[in-house]
Amino acid sequence: MQNNPLPYITDCPVGCTAPIVDTTLIVDEGALRRCSGCGQLLSRASEARYWETMAQFDAGEFNLIDGQALGRRDAVAQRRLARIAALLSKAPRDIRLCDIGCSRGQFVAAAIGAGFPAEGVEPAPRIAEAARRAGRPVRTGLLEDQKFSDATFDALTLFEVVEHLRAPLPLLAECRRILKPGGILLISTGNAASWTTAAMGARWDYFDMTRDGGHISFFNPQSMAQLAANAGFRVERIDTARVKFADRENTPRLRYVLGKLVAEALNLPAQLTGRGHDLLAYLRKPSAG
Ligand SMILES: [Zn+2]
Repeated sequence: MQNNPLPYITDCPVGCTAPIVDTTLIVDEGALRRCSGCGQLLSRASEARYWETMAQFDAGEFNLIDGQALGRRDAVAQRRLARIAALLSKAPRDIRLCDIGCSRGQFVAAAIGAGFPAEGVEPAPRIAEAARRAGRPVRTGLLEDQKFSDATFDALTLFEVVEHLRAPLPLLAECRRILKPGGILLISTGNAASWTTAAMGARWDYFDMTRDGGHISFFNPQSMAQLAANAGFRVERIDTARVKFADRENTPRLRYVLGKLVAEALNLPAQLTGRGHDLLAYLRKPSAG
């Protein structure tokens, strides 16, 4: 990293022209920088470091979960699907959905199970192949490679994708093109303006490129709203959830347990004030134009 000082991400991905300034959040790749316009945090990782850490997403065991974790993930998926259906005022069978960056296709499977005609797109070839072997309709490649027709989908989802992108606006433009007027784009990412970030600072694992490969761009509710506006979407709602003050791995047990109790007590206030560390943005392609 040190021998390649050029960061992979140089400009505010939201499209601000305001100066990028240093922060005191020091991670392995150096101090995170902040867009003084929208507050977006940017990694200093070099391009080589970026691609080195992105490799984990095509590893055979990546994202293999089972048991309780799978049940929790399915419950989350069902809540999101229900909200999409409510925002579209349509029955699931009338909602054509595509999950972009779908990994093994767990969300696609949950959507199909709930009655949605759903498919996925995944750039990591081995993981996309594993999804197809599991019987899930997943295409390999980038969204732009799929050449979907204009106004194909009622709903698109981008789960944990935008924090990996140097330039998310072209992807959002493609999403807008293939969405029907009035269609919904759901984006999930981390919230860098959360109480978790305030408490843990650079120790928040979301900033750790070894654990979470390729995380180079960190949103907050304001920068997400600005991204949406610059891409021609209307914000339906931006929700945040969950706080934590310590990692199980690096914290003495008692401190971890106490921290967890406090964090659980703060979950609801964080949700109400937009300070949770999980950010979920429901955006709509305007009906006219
Ligand atoms: Zn900005």
